[in-house]
Parts: sequence; structure tokens; C-alpha cells
Amino acid sequence: MIAVFPGSFDPVTLGHLDILKRGSQLFDEIIVAVLNNPNKTPLFTMQERINMLQAVTVNIPNVSIETYSGLLAAFAKKRGAKFILRGVRSEVDFAYEVPMAQANKQLMDELETILLITDPAYAYVSAGLIREIAAAGYVASDIDFDDKVLDQWVSPAVKHMLKNKYM
Ligand code: ADP
Repeated sequence: MIAVFPGSFDPVTLGHLDILKRGSQLFDEIIVAVLNNPNKTPLFTMQERINMLQAVTVNIPNVSIETYSGLLAAFAKKRGAKFILRGVRSEVDFAYEVPMAQANKQLMDELETILLITDPAYAYVSAGLIREIAAAGYVASDIDFDDKVLDQWVSPAVKHMLKNKYM
């Protein structure tokens, strides 16, 4: 059983990692599929995002990292994956995931979307929130920002990369 776990991972959070760890118990293999979106300029380059994903998943043997662009269903088919793994933080995430799952099933009949409910500790954590806090904290000189606060949301490798990006 192969699943793809698609996303932007800009940057990878402990919320992503929690879904990956739990997913790795459910599937034989998980391919993290990093979206290459030409219409968006991410904070971290594709190579940086691949590096951080490799760093945080080094102890999960059945996880590999790849990039994709275009249709996720086509990428899944090419890789022989019959499952899409997604994390759900809220009703907002759920409302977004339902039509996506239905469309992906329409595109490729055997493609099932599996939704894992977030650990409550990470329910409010998004990559965007981390970018905002790191940007404001590292760049603003008028507040006493202790970057230990980031440890509850991102791994040490990711924190290091955030610091390098903003300082
Ligand atoms: P984000 O929404 O943080 O920008 P992505 O778009 O890269 O992240 O999301 C990839 C997948 O990870 C999606 O299924 C998303 O719902 C899930 N995810 C992101 N953050 C969390 C979290 N804190 N807890 C559980 N799942 C999450």
C-alpha cells in the first residue's frame, strides 16, 4: 500500500511530521510529494524544502521525498500509489478536502483519500503561521524574541533554516 502525502511544506512543521509518523504506521510506503507551483514564490526553495523533509524523516524508513507539478492524481498513478494522505486541522480543512478527494477519485478511480485528524497540539499550526512568527520575531529589533518558542512547532533543523533565512 503506497500513499502520497502532498503539500507545499514551506516550511515543514511538527504538524506535518505527526501526520507522516502516523501515516507511516498505516502504509507500506509514503511518498511526500512537494508541490512545485510556478504561480507561487515560496519562502524556501524546492531544494531547501526537500532537504528539511529529508532531515525530519531520517528515522522513518518507509518515507521518501519527491516533487511534482500538475495533477496529483497523475503523479500518484505514475508511482503506483492508490492513496492520498492528508491532515485535517479544522472544519475549514475538511470542507476543502471533500471536493478534492471526490475530484481525485473521479480522475483516477482507485485513488482513495485518507484523512487523519490532527493532534490537538498542532491543530492551529500552519506553515504560514510559522513564516509570520519567524519573520516578525527574527527581523523586528524592538522586541526580545526568544526563538525557543519555535521548538514547539518545528524541528531543530527547520528552526535553523528559518533563522538563516531571516537573519
Ligand atoms: P500548510 O497548510 O501548513 O501550508 P501544506 O499545504 O504543506 O501545509 O499541507 C500539507 C498537508 O499537511 C495537508 O494535508 C495539510 O492539511 C496537512 N497539515 C498541515 N499542517 C498540519 C497540522 N498542523 N496538523 C495536521 N495536518 C497538517
